[in-house]
Amino acid sequence: MKRIIQDLSYAEIETLVYSLGEKKFRAKQLYSGLMKGKNISEITDISKAFRQKLLELFEDETIALQETFHSADGTEKFLFRLADGNLVEGVLMRYKYGNTQCVSTQVGCRMGCKFCASTLNGLLRNLTAGEILSQVLKINALYGTDKERGVTNIVLMGSGEPLDNYDNTVRFLKNVTAEGGIHVSARNISLSTCGLVPKIYDLAKEGIPLNLTISLHATKDEERKRIMPVANAYTIDEILKACSHYFDVTGRRYYFEYTLIEGENCDEEHALALVKLLKGKPCHVNLIRLNEVKERTLKALDDKSAYRFLGVLEKNGLSATLRRQIGSDIGGACGQLRASYLENNE
Ligand code: SAH
Repeated sequence: MKRIIQDLSYAEIETLVYSLGEKKFRAKQLYSGLMKGKNISEITDISKAFRQKLLELFEDETIALQETFHSADGTEKFLFRLADGNLVEGVLMRYKYGNTQCVSTQVGCRMGCKFCASTLNGLLRNLTAGEILSQVLKINALYGTDKERGVTNIVLMGSGEPLDNYDNTVRFLKNVTAEGGIHVSARNISLSTCGLVPKIYDLAKEGIPLNLTISLHATKDEERKRIMPVANAYTIDEILKACSHYFDVTGRRYYFEYTLIEGENCDEEHALALVKLLKGKPCHVNLIRLNEVKERTLKALDDKSAYRFLGVLEKNGLSATLRRQIGSDIGGACGQLRASYLENNE
């Protein structure tokens, strides 16, 4: 594969333009074309000769939107083809306040969570920063107008563990929030992690005020180990300490995701344990309904019990919501995104 031009910051584009013997103002034209989601060959306000030079170094079509699936609830799922033929998925959720795009950070995932479809075939490869950014650029271009953004919020909750692809993810975050670029506010970005503790400390140092979200899914280490192999490396206590540190440094409250899995983590005793663990902390809990994955035996909790679980948290003063289940009819709900499109259709 050639290099990915969307990996570059504006300053790096300027250096590139200069090194290729082009006038400085060409950097603006090139960068602005890229931020509009264009491929190099589509940026026709720069000369053909310059485009040709760029195409010797960089992929033209970093990402192609191969297919769009429409859910009855308005959610859309996208299938993106990368330059090497690998496929990743993305989702766009429409809310009153704007559109939230769920982006992937890796092709597959090596974290091995027992409930998740993205990890079934392990990690195929990391995405580069520009490949992550291009998912947003394409969809923003597709649905945005001069007045309104197509994508207002971003969640790093597609396939992959963002902190397992740390450098590319942070480069993406810096480029997507940069002024002069697509400039999505860091406050509108959520990064979800299964809890790679040392990387949470690293992230706190980056000075990006995003919403840190931890996939907790259990209240005791032994129970967490049953469903999340990463729990063998880091304890819940270590995760909570890292979150407090994140709050101290950034002033941002943090979030926990807790997927309700029947017979595993959703008795009243678990709800009370969750209260004990998190009460008084500057955090919010998102309960998620398990989306059943056909290769796995784990079962979703019924709706009534899910609301009862939520009730226990609320009654005890924990800030919590039960996330609306959207996009499941197109395989676009949490944990349904897969490394391989073919498997979807078997
Ligand atoms: N690797 C990151 C991003 C994963 S996806 C992380 O672990 O946080 C976002 C959320 O969906 C995570 O909380 C994940 O645990 C959850 N999830 C995964 N599979 C799921 C499933 N089948 N049903 C419901 N939620 C699921």
